[in-house]
Amino acid sequence: MKEYTPREFLVREDPDALKTIKPLQVFDDLFYCGNKLLGFWILKTSDGLVLFDSGDLTDGWDQWLLPALQEFGLEKEPVRMLFLTHGHFDHYLGARGVWEKTGCDIALSEADTAFMMWSVDNRDKAPVYPPVTRLLKDGEDLVFGDHTVHVLFAPGHTPGCLNYSFTVHDGEEEHRVIMAGGYGIFGPGHYPGGPYPYGVNWAVEQAFTFAASMAKTWEYVKETGCDVYLNPHPHLCRALEYAAENETREPGAPHGLVIGKEGVRKWLAERFEASLKLAQEYTDIQREYQDE
Ligand SMILES: [Zn+2]
Repeated sequence: MKEYTPREFLVREDPDALKTIKPLQVFDDLFYCGNKLLGFWILKTSDGLVLFDSGDLTDGWDQWLLPALQEFGLEKEPVRMLFLTHGHFDHYLGARGVWEKTGCDIALSEADTAFMMWSVDNRDKAPVYPPVTRLLKDGEDLVFGDHTVHVLFAPGHTPGCLNYSFTVHDGEEEHRVIMAGGYGIFGPGHYPGGPYPYGVNWAVEQAFTFAASMAKTWEYVKETGCDVYLNPHPHLCRALEYAAENETREPGAPHGLVIGKEGVRKWLAERFEASLKLAQEYTDIQREYQDE
């Protein structure tokens, strides 16, 4: 039986998964464009636009971003920075084109700037790397007018994977987003499109690291009261369904993406438990090797 990568599986389930969707306004100051699986998140600040991730099209600027900016009347706003959550091709391939058009800063961790280039996860993909012009530090805050982007290192999905936190607005209400950069936990038996290439020791370490990152993220969420969970892949946080609902929402009705601290905790706890379960599974494989 043919093994499908998660993406192939999703496309089999939903043939429209990779079709460009109508750009969405998710909050008053947050927009999304791309397809159902990946694309750009656009935060509008009083000092221009800040982007998160860039999808997997090298011409994403023409196909997705520019049409979306025009749709929302944002095409004259300067693009200040493109934050990458991590160094996987489906997050960075559109970034170089945006940099060429706008000259914006491209921000990523040092670990994933290296990972982007050495990782076989990105094999067979056009190596259209963006220049990383801003290496991020754990815990730093970057200010863009009336918005601040907080950087939270959350390794495990990749060695330098990042979470970001920032406020969004819904009428008079302000909410705090935690955008969790990584979702999948990789190891033997869990690797898209082939055998896991990095060896079981690395898989065990990364799975434990992932769990620790979720616990650390929860500490941050508790402290700051994040009440919105976003994943850069919109289908992993039901963002598109909620954004569609939002378009016909009655005044005063709740926003589906505002799930409160407890709602965010559930998303993080689910990943925490999944990563520990896989750490155990990979540890068992490790033990088998050692017993031989
Ligand atoms: Zn990834």
